[in-house]
Amino acid sequence: MNKQHLYLQRSQDMLWLTEDEQDNLKISYRIRDVLFEEQSPFQHVMVLDSYDFGPMLVLDGVVQTTSADGYIYNEMLAHMPLSVHPAPRRVLIIGGGDCGVAKEAAKYDAVETIDLVEIDEAVVRACRRYMPDVSGGEHPDPRIRHHYTDGVAFVKNKQGAYDVIIVDSSDPVGPAEQLFSTEFYRDLHSALNEGGLMVCQSQSPIFHKDVMMRSWERIGKLFPYIRMFTAVVPTYPGGLWSFTLGSKRPLPAPEDIRFDKEARYVNENVLRASFALPAFLEKLVADR
Ligand code: SAM
Repeated sequence: MNKQHLYLQRSQDMLWLTEDEQDNLKISYRIRDVLFEEQSPFQHVMVLDSYDFGPMLVLDGVVQTTSADGYIYNEMLAHMPLSVHPAPRRVLIIGGGDCGVAKEAAKYDAVETIDLVEIDEAVVRACRRYMPDVSGGEHPDPRIRHHYTDGVAFVKNKQGAYDVIIVDSSDPVGPAEQLFSTEFYRDLHSALNEGGLMVCQSQSPIFHKDVMMRSWERIGKLFPYIRMFTAVVPTYPGGLWSFTLGSKRPLPAPEDIRFDKEARYVNENVLRASFALPAFLEKLVADR
């Protein structure tokens, strides 16, 4: 079913994608071409070639990742947990169908297996083909094992199976809604071994404060060590984006974090500095 017309508008011979972020905010991107479109059983999937951000993955009309800034998010989400864990061997990624986080995780020699649990095979197929700079292209690292199923069901009964779990979810609506629930976080906690740790994207501190704080409280109740870090991702509403780290092992002080991989955004100082929260955010998490 062709649903482009719902999300794309023509205006004075220009094509625009308009994202309805919330009731009072719309963000528009000028589009050069539609590279991929498919209505999957889970969502409407497009890869659009945009003027300023290059190819972008759009699910149900919402931008997920782009060639121009996807590396910021993917590198932060992958390299933070894999740098603070001293020996990450078994890694689980929930969501992450653009394969960018898996591509970054494969940079660690210590990592033996990367289970990538994406509900929608169409996302992986589209990104491998049309966003190779984000996904790593058609020939992925052999340690990456694809599971096309619901991440909520997958993590049940996986007691102690993983060192690191990365939740690379879309917004908490549709198939991703349960990826922010207490029950899901409880299953993640069980699926981690003794010194294991998890990280999730926890939305915008400006536009989704409630979702962010709910994740913070739920993860904080389960894990003895919890920390928030941020990065600026231009195509996410508000730019400033939050990530939440929950750990069963004590976390290193920021100045003790080491990083020696080739990356485009992340370096040792960026990882360390991303724990320095803006004053309003520091106050929000300190008050809970
Ligand atoms: N970086 C993006 C952001 O913050 O907007 C999100 C990345 S996008 C690749 C997230 C992926 O999670 C989508 O491909 C979506 O299909 C997948 N997803 C949503 N719900 C899921 C579920 N319950 N289990 C597994 N994958 C899911």
